[in-house]
Amino acid sequence: MHKYPANARRHYERLKRFPEGLLVMGDALCSFNPTYAQGMTVASLEGLALRDALRAPATSTPLWRRYFRAAARAVDLPWSLVTGGDSSYPESNWSQPLAARLTGRYFTMVQRTAVHDGAVFAMFIKVQNLVEPPAAFFKPAFVLRVLRVARQQLPQPPPAGAVARAT
Ligand SMILES: Cc1cc2nc3c(=O)[nH]c(=O)nc-3n(C[C@H](O)[C@H](O)[C@H](O)COP(=O)(O)OP(=O)(O)OC[C@H]3O[C@@H](n4cnc5c(N)ncnc54)[C@H](O)[C@@H]3O)c2cc1C
Repeated sequence: MHKYPANARRHYERLKRFPEGLLVMGDALCSFNPTYAQGMTVASLEGLALRDALRAPATSTPLWRRYFRAAARAVDLPWSLVTGGDSSYPESNWSQPLAARLTGRYFTMVQRTAVHDGAVFAMFIKVQNLVEPPAAFFKPAFVLRVLRVARQQLPQPPPAGAVARAT
C-alpha cells in the first residue's frame, strides 16, 4: 500500500525568468500517481530533452527555456494518460471535456479486453510504457479486435475506486 496525495505538474516552461545555472527534472518537475509506473520513464525522457538542448546550437533562447519546453512535451502524453485514468475515480473533482471522457471510456474497454486477448494486452503494455503512442489504439485493425473481444461476455470489473477503498 502507498499513500499518494495527488498528481503534480509544475509549468516552468511558462516562466518569464529562471535562475541561471539551475534546472528542474524528475518528480520535482512532474510527479505521477505511482500506480501507473511512469515516473522513471518520464525522468529519462527529460534527461534526453536536456541532452538535446545542450547539443543544439546556441540561440537567443536561453538553455533553461529550450529544456523546459522540450521536457514539457515529454510530460504531456503521460500526464494526460495518468490524469485521465485518475479522473474516473468518484473522488476526483476534475470534470473532463466530452472528447476526453469518450476516449477514456474506450481506453477502459482496451484495458478490460487486454485481460482476455494477448495482442491487445501487448499493445496496452507498450502504450502504457510509452514505447508506442496512444494513436496505436486507434488503428482500424486494433479497434476491430478490441470491439470483437468486448462483444463477448466479459466479467464486469468493480467500480473504479472500490478496490482501493476496500483495501
Ligand atoms: C510507491 C512508488 C512506486 C513507484 N513505482 C514506479 C515504477 O514502477 N516505475 C517508475 O518508472 N516509477 C515509479 N515510481 C516513481 C519514481 O520512483 C519516481 O518518479 C522517481 O524516483 C523520481 O526520481 P527523482 O530523482 O526525481 O526523485 P527521487 O527518486 O525522489 O529522488 C529525490 C532524492 O532527493 C533527496 N532529497 C530530498 N530532499 C532533499 C534535501 N533537502 N537535501 C538533500 N537531498 C534531498 C531524497 O532523499 C531522494 O533521494 C514510484 C514511486 C513510488 C512512490
